[in-house]
Amino acid sequence: MGGKPIFINEAHGATLTDVDGNIFYDFVNSWGPIINGHSCPEIIESVSQALMHGTSFGAPTSLEIELAELICKLVPSIAMLRMVSSGTEATMSAIRLARAYTKRDILVKFNGCYHGHADSLLVEAGSGVATLGIPGSPGVPADVAKLTISVEYNDVESLNDVLSRVGAEKVAAIIVEPVAGNMGLVLPEDGFLQALRRVCDNHGIVLIFDEVMSGFRVALGGAQARYAVTPDLTTLGKVIGGGLPVGAFGGRKDIMKMLAPSGSVYQAGTLSGNPLAMAAGISQLKLLEKRNPYPQFEELSNYWVGQMRKLAVRVSVPICAVACGSLLGLFFTNLSHVRNYRDAKTTNANLFKHFYLSMLDQGFYLAPSAFESNFLSTAHTKEMLDSFISAAENALTSLPK
Ligand code: PLP
Repeated sequence: MGGKPIFINEAHGATLTDVDGNIFYDFVNSWGPIINGHSCPEIIESVSQALMHGTSFGAPTSLEIELAELICKLVPSIAMLRMVSSGTEATMSAIRLARAYTKRDILVKFNGCYHGHADSLLVEAGSGVATLGIPGSPGVPADVAKLTISVEYNDVESLNDVLSRVGAEKVAAIIVEPVAGNMGLVLPEDGFLQALRRVCDNHGIVLIFDEVMSGFRVALGGAQARYAVTPDLTTLGKVIGGGLPVGAFGGRKDIMKMLAPSGSVYQAGTLSGNPLAMAAGISQLKLLEKRNPYPQFEELSNYWVGQMRKLAVRVSVPICAVACGSLLGLFFTNLSHVRNYRDAKTTNANLFKHFYLSMLDQGFYLAPSAFESNFLSTAHTKEMLDSFISAAENALTSLPK
């Protein structure tokens, strides 16, 4: 985005303070994990308690079981799960498992979806890959990349064409962000996720919902609860670690049982199930269960969308604002509806850059990319959103001619 990068000193509630003492309303929330506000007292207390017992044991703890049981309860499609330390680890391990289960190699993903930085997942990826405009995946062997096929999001016809061309019987898994948050925010159209479920059932393909971002953000049970579609495997991260490094993947028992040591598919991690991270995750999920902030998220994010749309008319700037639960998306495009990566790329990146820098200048820290979502936490209020809209109006009425 240009400008000077800000370095954070501390964060409380909905605000960040940088090393120079500037205070910002935070709409990034560590790219998703901070859903109960920064420095959440309950999470700090739980992590502090765990800290007194030691930082890592390389062996199971009851905390790991407690978090796993909580996740299985809240996301019923997960019958068994494995903790890892990041979303990237979760997706790459889920794919290995799907390949072993189906004895097939090909992976289908969707353009603009980001599933972490494993070799096979950088093809047509969103997030930083989209932001930096990296064309393919330098450093990824062509023989690896050719096993990944990427299709336009929300386009079942293209998916079916691809499956006929490569042979559906060669496809191990379809991995999808059920709410796509890494090309800006793009929602699944009616029937899209259901169609993926049907295609996978018809061809014995493993359906992986990558809910690293959408998990516990678009509903307590994730996108699979919101859209009532059950995947075979789910990958999680971000929110389940309460701000500490955690990922997890899980799902159908017959597939998960293939993981070592009960099965032969190897996966391991020195710090997986780390007690501090587990304590943070337990506290975070318990708070979400108790507080049920989801109706409030819905109200706030819909309010934000409505206000942004009104603002667009007032200032005559083409804006497509969208929201889902606690996720917010903004495109500077004439399109009224962004349904895939091709549409997302019509966003005016120069306009976004001006907007981003002006918002930062006015004390609003947004995701520094035209191809990322923004995140609310329970610390965000309607008043903060009103201030956001005023600042956005300033930003958009001072555009360079
Ligand atoms: N999957 C999705 C949907 C993500 O949004 C991300 C990160 O943003 C990842 C996977 C990778 O997670 P991590 O950055 O923890 O490796």
